[in-house]
Amino acid sequence: MKIIETVAEMREFIAAKRQAGKTIGLVPTMGALHEGHLTLMRTAKAKCDVVVASIFVNPTQFGPNEDLDSYPRDLAGDAVKAESAGVEAIFHPQPSEMYSAGYATYINVEGITDKLCGKSRPGHFRGVATVVSKLFNIVQPDTAFFGQKDAQQVAVIERMVRDLNMAIQIEVVTIVREADGLARSSRNTYLSKEEREAALVLSRSLRLASEAAAKGERKAAALKSLVETEIKGESLAKIEYVEIYSYPDLAEIEEVKETALLAVAVRFGTTRLIDNIIFNN
Ligand code: AMP
Repeated sequence: MKIIETVAEMREFIAAKRQAGKTIGLVPTMGALHEGHLTLMRTAKAKCDVVVASIFVNPTQFGPNEDLDSYPRDLAGDAVKAESAGVEAIFHPQPSEMYSAGYATYINVEGITDKLCGKSRPGHFRGVATVVSKLFNIVQPDTAFFGQKDAQQVAVIERMVRDLNMAIQIEVVTIVREADGLARSSRNTYLSKEEREAALVLSRSLRLASEAAAKGERKAAALKSLVETEIKGESLAKIEYVEIYSYPDLAEIEEVKETALLAVAVRFGTTRLIDNIIFNN
């Protein structure tokens, strides 16, 4: 497996694969790889001849007081894991390779980025859409793979691809969880033992909502309130948001009739975790 640091070398790698008639799958990540990322990579390997994973802690998607500097980085460990999941090349550029001096071009997906994580992390999705479109231009994959864990991100990327007529298929992989229900996240490593235990309230509260919906509860306010009450019962948890919107257009809804997203962001100490479920009616 190759580790590629420059755009020029990445383009050469892709050109050779294209010449050999290979299809390309791209899995964008920020590294600190876990089973969630590896599932995306294995899914990509099953669908495409060549899998490229990017590992890039993208500065433009972090706010000034966020964890850009402390975000876990482990390229050597990631390389071993990615190779075992079928990745043929890791694209690992330095920030200066992606954003050279005088960099001035950003992608703004409007409307759906004003809520949920976009509201609590202003500028986050501008950074995400910008880096993902750059990665799409550099790697030119047939298919790119994203996790439902970041459901709003999926909505943003799908909208960008549609609006800008990008010839790339987006595949979404369901949330990969620990055996006890906690959604896998690179940020789980920040949690103390007590916070790790408390964080189980996320999947537990979403399960309550899912069970209520299965029994016929359709009112968005009632489903939201079930989740809020459960999370508030956990003293180490501090709710940032609990919201229900239609999905993927993220419109306000009173009743869960068509596809809807119930998403939560909760802080445990300084660690911010997100989780969600999608109701398919
Ligand atoms: P990140 O490295 O956190 O930017 O995530 C890279 C990709 O992996 C994104 O498409 C995420 O949605 C996806 N991902 C992260 N955690 C999970 C998970 N637990 N299950 C499925 N996909 C995930």
